[in-house]
Amino acid sequence: MKEELNPFKIAQQQLDEAAKVMDLDEDMHAFLREPMRFLQVSIPVKMDDGSTKTFIGFRCQYNDARGPTKGGLRWHPEETADTVKALAAWMTWKTAVVDIPYGGGKGGVICNPKEMSEGEKERLARGYIRAISRFIGPEKDIPAPDVYTTPQIMAWMMDEYSKIVGYNAPGVITGKPLEVGGSKGRTDATARGGMYVLREAAKCCGVELKENKDKMHKSYAELQKLEETTPAEHPVTIAIQGYGNAGQYAHLLLKRVFRNAKVVGLSDSRGAIYVKEGIPCNKAMEIKDQKGTITAYPGAKKISNEELLELDVDILVPAALENVIRKDNASKIRAKIILELANGPTTPEADQILHKNGVMVLPDFLANAGGVTCSYFEWVQNIGGYYWDFEETYERLDKKMSQAFWDVYNTQKAYFEKDKDIDMRTAAYVVSIERVAQATRTRGWV
Ligand code: GLU
Repeated sequence: MKEELNPFKIAQQQLDEAAKVMDLDEDMHAFLREPMRFLQVSIPVKMDDGSTKTFIGFRCQYNDARGPTKGGLRWHPEETADTVKALAAWMTWKTAVVDIPYGGGKGGVICNPKEMSEGEKERLARGYIRAISRFIGPEKDIPAPDVYTTPQIMAWMMDEYSKIVGYNAPGVITGKPLEVGGSKGRTDATARGGMYVLREAAKCCGVELKENKDKMHKSYAELQKLEETTPAEHPVTIAIQGYGNAGQYAHLLLKRVFRNAKVVGLSDSRGAIYVKEGIPCNKAMEIKDQKGTITAYPGAKKISNEELLELDVDILVPAALENVIRKDNASKIRAKIILELANGPTTPEADQILHKNGVMVLPDFLANAGGVTCSYFEWVQNIGGYYWDFEETYERLDKKMSQAFWDVYNTQKAYFEKDKDIDMRTAAYVVSIERVAQATRTRGWV
């Protein structure tokens, strides 16, 4: 039988699996299986050539029992209603696992931003906000960046919303540039949060990652200035799949906040590379910036994206799109830990194989929750009108992410002691579902 690759069906399947192990009552299960609200809009945009193009946009508010819905906006040519619903469901579990007072939402527009001018992007951003303005708000639903959306796009959106409501409303959107109410540390927060989770996870599965304690809470700019060293002894080897925002920051952080991390494999949509001696980050970023692809890295062995996933490394970091680790390649994965910085990289059947093979998968909605956690900090700062420095932001982020990891790990252990051998994803679902279900019950909805 062909493997199910529809992200929303996968999200439902994951929920079903967790509901079964935790004996979730049927009514609650049925309620949590579907989004509470889903909106589709048409956005006419004046293009530079004088024509008008109509774009289709979505916004899904999956569940708001724990607080306003929260989640990013994807601009992608293959965006679909079901992808948005899946991602909104994952946001619900994500905000719950790190225990921030939000529900989950997600949005998207079917478009190819790589083929659009700045002016066209600005008009699309503003048009999208006009179309959904009555559905969002700092106390209702708070969008943020995601695939192919940037801080500049967030700034245009915040500005459009502020014009509509007639006052400055920075809390309506997060991931904004610093000068219009962004938070220090938001740009690399997804990868940074992943580092904190990874540090804790490594302690549990015999991967000896040596942390640079004094670097853990330093700003990205300060870390970038440090000299890069390649560990001579006991390196922990790493491959990163995807070299966008999350992948590039992960590369930089891995090499600075740990003393013995050695990144040997990298990939982007054009292919992958392997360098046995390790790949310095500044050089890789420079190549990506200048040539548009990491495959232009001089002297590297060119490999396929499939081969990258199957490299003999300690840690694999999927940092691109959905469904890259599937039934057909899961058994070939040799990493001990998978840090899912992307949303939805592993299918349920692959999960089963990896668990059987003893691979620790740090599931997306735990591993990449640093982005939304820092978004929460941004929103808190916007509402309070008082802004924090880098150290304060990262200390708080570290605390949230580490706590979330141990909540999940201890849940997995507790189930194991009850003779239920569940993987880390299911354990994370159990933690999140309990929190969302509790709020839903207390409100009296189910
Ligand atoms: N798009 C990010 C995610 O998938 C961040 C969402 C947010 O900051 O609201 O978690």
